[in-house]
Amino acid sequence: MLQDIDLRELAEMEGPERAFVSAYLTGQEGLRAVEARAKKIRAMLKEDSDTKTHFEESYRLIRNLLDEHPPEEGKGMCVFASYVLDFVKGHRLSVEVPNTLCLGSSPYVRPLARLQDTFEKFALVVADNSNTRIYLVAAQNIELEDRVKGDIKNRVKKGGWSQKRYSRSRENELHHYAEEVAEALKAVDDHESIDHIILLGTGETIREIEKELSEALLEKVIGKKSADLDAEVSELLESAYELFFKEEQEEEQHLWERIQDAYLSEHPAAVGPADVLMALLNGRVESLLITKDVEMEGSRCRECQNVTAGLPDTCPYCSKTDLIPIDLVNEMVRQAEMTDAEIDFTDPIPELEEVDGVAALLRY
Ligand SMILES: [Zn+2]
Repeated sequence: MLQDIDLRELAEMEGPERAFVSAYLTGQEGLRAVEARAKKIRAMLKEDSDTKTHFEESYRLIRNLLDEHPPEEGKGMCVFASYVLDFVKGHRLSVEVPNTLCLGSSPYVRPLARLQDTFEKFALVVADNSNTRIYLVAAQNIELEDRVKGDIKNRVKKGGWSQKRYSRSRENELHHYAEEVAEALKAVDDHESIDHIILLGTGETIREIEKELSEALLEKVIGKKSADLDAEVSELLESAYELFFKEEQEEEQHLWERIQDAYLSEHPAAVGPADVLMALLNGRVESLLITKDVEMEGSRCRECQNVTAGLPDTCPYCSKTDLIPIDLVNEMVRQAEMTDAEIDFTDPIPELEEVDGVAALLRY
């Protein structure tokens, strides 16, 4: 599953220049796109060079893995291989991913990091007074984890003594039912460590469930909405994702505001590629905010291996002129993974664009 892929393990891998080949593809069409790109890469590499030999061998590892585990229609896969390091690993992704094939000194983890950020795991609780279903949702995959039966009777409108007693017992029943749901949800969280919770259903039931949730679980509730419980699961999933993406966007905006406030009041924050890269290399970043499709140039020195933002003529560390252009976002993602920094990919925010699409809240 997407969220179970150990990004840190991939981020930590490093080899000689262009030792890694990374492939992302969706379905058979993706396989054809990757093949076509491999052909072009071959044409770009010098005959009889080490890079060409390594590419051929690494790509062969990727193709063998894909022959054994062919891509499924409409679903993504990623494969990383390095012949020199005797490494090949593939993952199925359950969501579509843009096709790409590239070379680098480490696995190209940027698309994976973005998918993991986009599709965080959440619990979907669908509840009314007669029954509750708890689903686990991860990258558009939905699985039923638990069910709780309610059978709470509807309110009656008659007045009088029997009505009072009836309403007390109804309250009790509802309370116990909500308690049971809260326990079931806690069990799911203990087992799956969910990031968020979304509640769909009737207002009364949802309010009652919320009352019974522990503070830790209540904090994870990011959205609630009334919904028709007889609706198709796919429809419920769509409603849940609507709430989920709205909340994600608000959170990114909120993070940006926190970075702005910190920066303006001399608290530790970094904005722009050069400052953020430096903070990442020093392990100071707590939360990294990057515009989703931003292009960011960087370079790695062939001599001392140091990474610099932009494309300078000489390496600022050793003054040599032998620099290789790299995708700086990929490098930032690697550094963030290795230092346990949170990574948030955001839709374009105008002020963030003005500092080239990257900023960070720092630990110190
Ligand atoms: Zn250097």
